[in-house]
Amino acid sequence: MTKNNPDYETKCPHCKSTYHPKNAQPAIKEPLNKIYILYALCPECKDKYDNANKSEKINIANQCFLNFKKEGKDPAGEIYPWSVTTEIALHTNGYDVDQALMNGQSIPWEIYHLVEMGVVNLSSLPTNLFGEWPLCVELKFNEP
Ligand SMILES: [Zn+2]
Repeated sequence: MTKNNPDYETKCPHCKSTYHPKNAQPAIKEPLNKIYILYALCPECKDKYDNANKSEKINIANQCFLNFKKEGKDPAGEIYPWSVTTEIALHTNGYDVDQALMNGQSIPWEIYHLVEMGVVNLSSLPTNLFGEWPLCVELKFNEP
């Protein structure tokens, strides 16, 4: 658990530079089943992104998708700490991007999967890591 670790560093999914997640700037959303993946950029790339035209924005996004999906691990086998998170991790960290990057989703994988597939409502999860786990997770099986 990296909760509030001041030494934690993350990597920009666009330029691959290492920086502190406090400086992560949310930029690009990519749909993943019923949730989205959020790509945060380093301040330099976010600035570039904000000032880019539509086709340049698409190029930046595609480079992020490629880096994230192609390079899950470094040559030493360590997981790359990309500044990429999910809607679920954002929710469980009170929509605080740097906390989501440091802490991840912090829920069991089975529950994560149910939320990703839209079986469980995102809103039924705790809104931050320090909140209470709900006694009963609301299921959406009854919906048509
Ligand atoms: Zn960057």
